[in-house]
Amino acid sequence: MPKVQAVRPLSPATVSPRMLWTATGVVVALLLLAYLVAFDQGAVSRSGMFLHELMHDGRHLLGVPCH
Ligand SMILES: [Zn+2]
Repeated sequence: MPKVQAVRPLSPATVSPRMLWTATGVVVALLLLAYLVAFDQGAVSRSGMFLHELMHDGRHLLGVPCH
């Protein structure tokens, strides 16, 4: 007679608060970076047009409206 094993139900995934805060920080940092690369015209970075000019080719490469 085959042995029958009880199947344990899968426990729901748990996320530690530290992991949640780390993931949130990474997402916020990436969103800020995406904003600075794609949309900043110097108002947020306070760099004049330096950042815009630095990322200019990347903006065109990504298809972000530039000028
Ligand atoms: Zn351009």
